[in-house]
Amino acid sequence: LDATGEHLSPEEIDIERALRPVSFDDFTGQEQVLENLKVFVQAANQRNEALDHTLFHGPPGLGKTTLAHILANELEVGIKVTSGPVLDKPGDLAGLLTNLEERDVLFIDEIHRLSPIVEEYLYSAMEDYKIDIMIETGPNARSVQINLNPFTLVGATTRSGLLTAPMRARFGISSRLEYYDTELLSTIVQRSADILRVPISNDAAIEIAGRSRGTPRICNALLRRVRDFAQIKGNGNIDMEISKYGLKALNVDAHGLDEMDNKILTTIIDKFKGGPVGITTLATAVSESAETIEEVYEPFLIQQGFIMRTPRGREVTELAYRHLGRVKGGNQPG
Ligand code: ATP
Repeated sequence: LDATGEHLSPEEIDIERALRPVSFDDFTGQEQVLENLKVFVQAANQRNEALDHTLFHGPPGLGKTTLAHILANELEVGIKVTSGPVLDKPGDLAGLLTNLEERDVLFIDEIHRLSPIVEEYLYSAMEDYKIDIMIETGPNARSVQINLNPFTLVGATTRSGLLTAPMRARFGISSRLEYYDTELLSTIVQRSADILRVPISNDAAIEIAGRSRGTPRICNALLRRVRDFAQIKGNGNIDMEISKYGLKALNVDAHGLDEMDNKILTTIIDKFKGGPVGITTLATAVSESAETIEEVYEPFLIQQGFIMRTPRGREVTELAYRHLGRVKGGNQPG
């Protein structure tokens, strides 16, 4: 299990699907985002129009894909799913776009990774519901313009900063998803445990929630693992004792920081005297890509107050020293 909670087996993918909320009412948290979306969806439904193009941004696992499916469901339309790196030719995109029915949702995950030609091709589709396609080849080749059904593009990105300005400008709705607090996550843990039909105590749900890096995908992943411990090492019920046992075995610490989070903090303290250190230097020191650190690890460490971003690089805070049982400026053990 890593911070993104990925690397799932086919069975686990089925479980993921079963746990995924399908309607606004099912979805916990992100209250402000949800309130607005409900209004926009209701208005679009009343006018029988396609919802405005919608962008979701924020760290992985907070519900961007889930919300895209919920939008389609609440709009009572179909959804086609693809992702930026998969769409490498305008032709692939044309195939998807021409197959959209009226008001359908086209979901593009990792939209910041579209190639520039595909992105440009998307502009006229988004703006006027029109695209140019090439017909025939050789000397007879010519481009014709075709009309598309009005549709909603839902884009998701972990890095809205990497979206080009013209792309960003074409989204009428843009919502940032935030990390979830422990209370919200414990509601999600309870709901998931119900679906998995495993009894769980309140304090155990809170314990798992508090160690989930503010991320629903991680709380569900931890719940599945603790369920295994309860089944094999316990009596099948998830209580505080088996949760603590399981979470310890999984190397999840009390703040929910995982191994890479802790490695980043100890590296900044031990190798760079607490910082500041540039992102590329740090990435090399912890053997992780700068992109993953910026997308996955750093936002949570900043939000929890363990790291600060300064013009000269990343610095750890007092809290990080305390968390790791270190003394600022002191002799740091290994
Ligand atoms: P990525 O960017 O990595 O694709 P994401 O932001 O799209 O992540 P999702 O795939 O939508 O995240 O969510 C991950 C899992 O977390 C889902 O399977 C879903 O079960 C659960 N989940 C997300 N948000 C919520 C929520 N608000 N309530 C309950 N479960 C949620």
